[in-house]
Amino acid sequence: MRKVRGKSADIHANPYFLKAAGEGVPLSWNHYEKMLPQDAFSCLGLTCYDCLLGPCRINPFGEQNEKTVCGLDREELVIRTFSRFTGIHTPDADKAADCFLEAAFPALESLYKGLPGETAACTKRIGLGILKQENINICLERPSASFLELFLKTAKENAAMAAGVQAPGFCISLVGSTPFICPPDVVCDTGSSELAIMTGLVDAYIAGGDLPSRAWNAAANYHTAFYTADSGNCDTNKIMEFLNGACKAYKTRDKSRIMPSDVLEEAKFSGITALRDSLQGKSYKGVCLFGGSSNLKLTQDEALFHAVRTMAEKGILCAAFGEAALTLGKYGLLNGQDNVIGFWGAAALPELLKILPYKDTPCYAYFPELFGREDILGLLACAGKDLPAYTSTRLPVEGADRLSKALGERVCYGKPGEVPDSILRAIQEGRHGN
Ligand code: SF4
Repeated sequence: MRKVRGKSADIHANPYFLKAAGEGVPLSWNHYEKMLPQDAFSCLGLTCYDCLLGPCRINPFGEQNEKTVCGLDREELVIRTFSRFTGIHTPDADKAADCFLEAAFPALESLYKGLPGETAACTKRIGLGILKQENINICLERPSASFLELFLKTAKENAAMAAGVQAPGFCISLVGSTPFICPPDVVCDTGSSELAIMTGLVDAYIAGGDLPSRAWNAAANYHTAFYTADSGNCDTNKIMEFLNGACKAYKTRDKSRIMPSDVLEEAKFSGITALRDSLQGKSYKGVCLFGGSSNLKLTQDEALFHAVRTMAEKGILCAAFGEAALTLGKYGLLNGQDNVIGFWGAAALPELLKILPYKDTPCYAYFPELFGREDILGLLACAGKDLPAYTSTRLPVEGADRLSKALGERVCYGKPGEVPDSILRAIQEGRHGN
């Protein structure tokens, strides 16, 4: 079992880990530790469950010509797995790495198609301190733009519902970033969603997005009304149901389990032109683009926090977007720190990659923690756009010799703590560009 401090670099998270342990509330970290070892075949990309002839798996140490039921060899099986993760299909196993790298940028663009134009500047308050004891607190994780707009409108029009349960109002906050600019402040990043619930102050939690929310682990043990939402159930009646659920839950709060927080930082996110302005206005030793989100296999935030601090001190412009930027904001690193700049929302990446690489400035990308498709596509898109890319999360491709080798030339795995030195060394030695 890892120690409390090994779970997150955030010292403000520790009291909530201890609270969970004291209350016997199992969090995702506990489930992960209990589950170990995870299926090694799947970690290498050597499993498939796409049809009922399977699931199939190939032993990485077995004979070279071992095949799945439908005749895929080791290389083809891993490619199929990675296609499932990325949504990119490649017909030619010999050119699979190139295909993944080239297709990632257009795949990202199509993911964010239809979202409001250029990434704009905005200021957000970030921290568990957003949750106030007197309010009915509602957290929205990864809401779609249409859902959020309707939710805010409906909550405003029905603000009197809060008075019905003797509360001064609804307090609506985000968990994680959204790919579009929006008004609510942020209670935490998605990797810390369980800790928000552990305050005992979240009355309703509404999870969006395609992937399951870890918040359920804690919500199942608290008074919190937990819902999932997508554009398919985005109508006023449904939202009224959520608001009613939040009011009812507010009345059932257990005061003895409330642990409020006063941690709150203000983060200034830049508009997209700020990157070009920075590069034109000052000479940097290099630029490093930071992305990705949260993966509990690593000590949460540690690699990102360390890398940004180390590289910014050495004169590298650290530009973060999406969850990575939000995380820097949580640590107070987005309020005017030298050489650090953040962009709200993952949708900023395609725009950033139209500016980077910039002239002859060495440019790199580091995505320490990867979670889902968006993160993987972002990493591949950077590598595909000639930014040497690093991650500290293992991709499920190591079961395929050729794919793993070809991809590894453009996307390097580096242990947390070691990547900043690798990048700084490469800059010093004049090695940059793929
Ligand atoms: S490898 Fe082929 S046979 Fe096996 S589960 Fe996947 S698609 Fe089905």
